Formats: sequence, C-alpha cells, structure tokens
Amino acid sequence: MTLNTIATIGAGQTAAVAARTLRRRGFDGKIVLIGDEPHAPYQRPPLSKEFLAGQEDRESLMLLPEAWREKQDVELLTGTAVTRIDTASAAIELSDGRSVSADAVLIATGGRPRTMPVTGPSPERVHYLRTIDDAERLAAQLRPGVRLTLIGGGFVGLEIAATAKGLGAEVTVLEADQVPLARILGSEVGEVCTRMHLDNGVAIRGGVRVATVATRPDDVLITLDNGEVIGTDVVVVGIGIVPNDEVAQASGLAVEGGILVNAHGQTAVPHIYAAGDVAARFSESAGRHVRVEHFDNASKQAAAAANSMLGRAGAVDAAHWFWSDQFGKNLQLVGSARYTELVLRGSAEDGEFTAFYLDDGIVRGAFALDRGEDIGVARELIGRAIGPARLADEEVDLYDLLDEDEEMVTV
Ligand SMILES: Cc1cc2nc3c(=O)[nH]c(=O)nc-3n(C[C@H](O)[C@H](O)[C@H](O)COP(=O)(O)OP(=O)(O)OC[C@H]3O[C@@H](n4cnc5c(N)ncnc54)[C@H](O)[C@@H]3O)c2cc1C
Repeated sequence: MTLNTIATIGAGQTAAVAARTLRRRGFDGKIVLIGDEPHAPYQRPPLSKEFLAGQEDRESLMLLPEAWREKQDVELLTGTAVTRIDTASAAIELSDGRSVSADAVLIATGGRPRTMPVTGPSPERVHYLRTIDDAERLAAQLRPGVRLTLIGGGFVGLEIAATAKGLGAEVTVLEADQVPLARILGSEVGEVCTRMHLDNGVAIRGGVRVATVATRPDDVLITLDNGEVIGTDVVVVGIGIVPNDEVAQASGLAVEGGILVNAHGQTAVPHIYAAGDVAARFSESAGRHVRVEHFDNASKQAAAAANSMLGRAGAVDAAHWFWSDQFGKNLQLVGSARYTELVLRGSAEDGEFTAFYLDDGIVRGAFALDRGEDIGVARELIGRAIGPARLADEEVDLYDLLDEDEEMVTV
C-alpha cells in the first residue's frame, strides 16, 4: 500500500519519537498526531522531579517545538479524543463526530493512573500524577510544612516524596509491600533505597494497606485496614497505571493487559501499530507479550514501529532500561532483577554501588546507584555467565569481562 498519511492516536512520548523517526527516514507524506490533551507532546519524567520542584518550566518539557513541527510539516490536533478506528479503511473516528483518514496508524495512547475511591468535600487535596496539569496542581500545594502522604511507594511515588521533601513538606509513604521497590529491585536493593529516604527524613511505612480516603474541608483522613487513622493535608495516589486500550477494544483489536502487537509493533491488522505504555509487545527472549512503562521502551518501540511502517527492519528486543532521580542520586536498572545471587560492586553504605542480578550464574540485570557508567557495560553482560568475584572486584574493568564469559545464553 502507498503510504500518503500516517497518524498517531495519542500525542505523547511515543507519538513524538515516531514522528521524528518517520521524517528522519525520509517519509515525506502527511503526518498527523491526534492527542486528547490540550498540549503538544511533552516529557513526563520531569513531572515528578525537576518540573515539580519548580526547576524546569513547561517550555523545557516540549518534545516537538512548534518551529520543528512547522518545518517538518507535522500536523498536531490537540484536545481531540479518538474513539475508534475503522480497521478496514483505517479511518480514525473522533469523539466530536469528525474522522481522519490515514494509510497507517500508530496507537500510542499510553496509560492513566489507577484510581481509588475518595469521599468528602475536598477532592482537590487528593492527587494523581500523569500530566503537566496534574503536576502544576500538586506543586501549588507543596508548601513548607505541609503534610504530604503518598499512597504507593513505587518509583514515581518515591520521586514525588524526594521532591516534596526538598520543598520542605513533611512526607509519609504508605506501601503495601514490606519494602518499597522490592518487587522491582529485590528486597536488598529496595532496602537500600528505603534507607536513603529514611536518612533524608521521609517516613516510610511498609506492609500497610489503605482501606479508605476521606477528605474534610481542612485535611484528609486515611484509614488503614487495621483501623489506624492517619491525618494529612495532601495525598498523592501512586498505585500504578492502566493502559488506555479502549480505542483498540472498540476497533476489535486484540487486547490482553495492553494492545497485543508483534515484535515490530504491528497488531493483527497490518497497517495498525501500537507502541509505548499501551502496547504488549511480543518479546522473543521472554517468549510472551510484555508491556513496559518506561521512557526508553516508548522511544525504542516508536522508532521500531515507524521503521516497520516504512518497510525497514523494526524489531527491538533489547534489555529494558530506566532511570530515576531521588535526593540528588541517580538510579538506573537494566534488564531484570530476577536472581538467585546478588553481587555488589561498590558500597551500599557509601551510597554508590552497582548490584548485579545473577540467576543460576547468569547475569540477568543490574541496578546502579550513582554509577550510571556501569550500566552501559552491564547491558552487554546480560545473558553471560560471569564469576561473582570478578563482578564485585573494583580492580577489574567491567569491559574486560565481556571477553571472559563462560557461556552466552538467551535472557
Ligand atoms: C510522573 C512520571 C514520571 C516518570 N518518570 C520516568 C522516569 O524517570 N524514567 C522512565 O523511564 N520513565 C518514566 N516515566 C514513564 C514515561 O513517561 C512513559 O513511559 C512514557 O511517557 C510513555 O509514553 P507513551 O507515549 O506511551 O504515553 P504517554 O506519554 O502517556 O502519551 C499518551 C498520550 O495519549 C493520549 N491519549 C490517550 N487516549 C487517547 C485517545 N483516545 N485519543 C487521543 N489521545 C489519547 C494521552 O492523554 C497522552 O497524552 C514517568 C511517567 C510519569 C507519569
């Protein structure tokens, strides 16, 4: 099929990278980005970090500045929700009754925060954080001395905790697991991250379950399932996201915890693709569909889908990578924290180390605290059998280990 028009549904990170890739690869047809937010595509990672702290403004978050869009002739429809795609014609139906026709479509609708019931007269005291507007509403309430309680101690929750602490708030994190981040990083590394928060004055309560959240005119009461009541001024609920897969469902595409796509990002309808937080992509190495909620994954999948639309090789199956910034420290994870043995290089006490996750002697992933330089080579070590003593020995250059593995296995 001749490609005259390519459209994205959603105008976030994935859509922006897809548009850039299409133009870089020489696609000179029409590109239309259709997003329901009133904003041009922007980066979300700073929303819990520099932007929330007031160190960055809206302009600095923008991914496709107006001048670039004009020069590259990329059309942007903001404030425009898509309801359905007619899969036979690829006509994209909008909520206002109009439609946009395209020869290929990328569904890049991301996710939205998982919510919980909140009662009472002051719902504005309870926040979720996904959009620039959410961040501005929250920032306006983070004054020195304000009591902020986070429900959920995942990465975004802990970033908000660190930023709010820096702004002078009294911060408490309520986490259902005993140790925050243990499910993602393992309990040992989760404990190191928890310690960093405790040392900076954040109160962390692991193993607690919130039963109800009730706002009052001047505060919020959080009741735990053991009956304990916690009073606070402001609440942020950070209990994960759900994929925005309704457009795919309404269009008859397969959805199972995300939109099912092959390694190239393609759905069962060849001219309809999905990528980013909403997509469950088939990973050959994992042997199943995997949905990932990270910036790097969104960018890689977007580029893969754009390449594939243009008939270029588009599959990616690289180890997942993400970063976080908390209390001036940089945290990075590459690969998975599946392990039978954890090998530390550097010192957790000094707050600077890399933890290698080994499963039956094979490196499966690595986490670095303020040692981002190790992550690039750690990515290369994934799937290799490397002796733990060599990994831990700081005298050994990690790059030298690339030549020493006993075997290379599929991750
Ligand atoms: C506060 C915060 C901090 C983060 N920090 C990090 C970090 O440090 N490191 C990291 O790796 N990742 C981080 N992430 C995750 C990262 O931002 C996401 O993985 C990335 O934004 C995913 O891009 P996406 O394009 O798939 O989705 P999004 O960026 O969410 O874009 C999807 C867009 O589609 C729109 N949309 C949805 N439905 C429709 C519809 N029917 N019609 C039209 N438009 C629609 C949405 O409103 C949204 O604008 C963070 C996310 C948040 C929220």
